[in-house]
Amino acid sequence: MYDLIIIGLGPAGINAGIYAKRSKLNVLLIEKETPGGKLNSINKIDNYLGAIDLTGPELATTFYKQIRALKPEIKLEEVIDIKEKDDFKEVITNKATYCSKTVIISSGSGQKKLQGFESIQNISYCALCDANLYENKDVVLIGNNFKAIEEAKYLSKIVNKLYFIYEGKKIDLKLDNVEIIYDEVVKDIKIENNLIKEVILKNSNLIVSGIFVSLGSGPSSSFAENLGITDEKGFITVNENQETTIPGIYACGDIVKKAVYQIINAASEGAIGAINAGKYIRNKSR
Ligand SMILES: Cc1cc2nc3c(=O)[nH]c(=O)nc-3n(C[C@H](O)[C@H](O)[C@H](O)COP(=O)(O)OP(=O)(O)OC[C@H]3O[C@@H](n4cnc5c(N)ncnc54)[C@H](O)[C@@H]3O)c2cc1C
Repeated sequence: MYDLIIIGLGPAGINAGIYAKRSKLNVLLIEKETPGGKLNSINKIDNYLGAIDLTGPELATTFYKQIRALKPEIKLEEVIDIKEKDDFKEVITNKATYCSKTVIISSGSGQKKLQGFESIQNISYCALCDANLYENKDVVLIGNNFKAIEEAKYLSKIVNKLYFIYEGKKIDLKLDNVEIIYDEVVKDIKIENNLIKEVILKNSNLIVSGIFVSLGSGPSSSFAENLGITDEKGFITVNENQETTIPGIYACGDIVKKAVYQIINAASEGAIGAINAGKYIRNKSR
């Protein structure tokens, strides 16, 4: 049984981890991708105290070094569910189940996944990063915004044929190798030997080698939906102690419903969450 499990190692989770380790809590940190969170994709850091001429990955590395020096237990796994038990919480990942007295949710925000197909690893959420893997092949792009239209233009220069499933009003995009499909839904995806083969839609099937998704970004809180602490957009409401409505569960950083989304307040909220998780454990054991 852990004292505290921290979900997500962006600025909020890393700082929560530093405070938890320094106050001698038995803590487990869980991160599904790269420690440092969104910092890893920021070119230049602005508005963060002490960070002069730093890139995001440089600041992420400094943060990570600071927590690693405290020798925390870290698992590179994806949290898929949290269950409230009588006197503890169960945190379920894609690999195992862990029990803890308290939990801090600091999973930030990210690309919205294709609903129903979240676990398919070879769906791409970045045309710029992955288009070259599909040179002269047929692919599908599922999108609903301006960025998706830009990604369709980019993909059309590289792939053979692009099926662009657009979730929204008709758009003015005319490119020889792009077929825009409206009012469609992905029903199934056929995969053979780990390769995408076919996308089954409501009204037709598409034989493709790749799938791109560009549905905007939002809070990464699908694993917490069952707890009833997320709002209609997926944000979590907390009080000034970073407490959610469930005793022992805290939320910090970009996952929280608030007015300012910056590194400085994400880190500060992580500290507040960890301090209050410690107080909660001490009060319970009295
Ligand atoms: C382009 C851009 C530029 C920015 N520039 C600045 C700037 O100059 N200055 C500034 O102050 N702020 C800036 N920000 C905002 C800043 O990046 C965020 O406010 C900050 O990163 C929030 O930290 P966080 O820890 O809450 O979340 P994140 O940084 O989003 O980290 C969340 C972590 O949780 C992990 N995670 C998510 N789901 C799970 C799961 N199910 N299981 C396990 N782990 C999970 C993610 O992989 C990620 O590592 C910028 C943001 C963007 C997008």
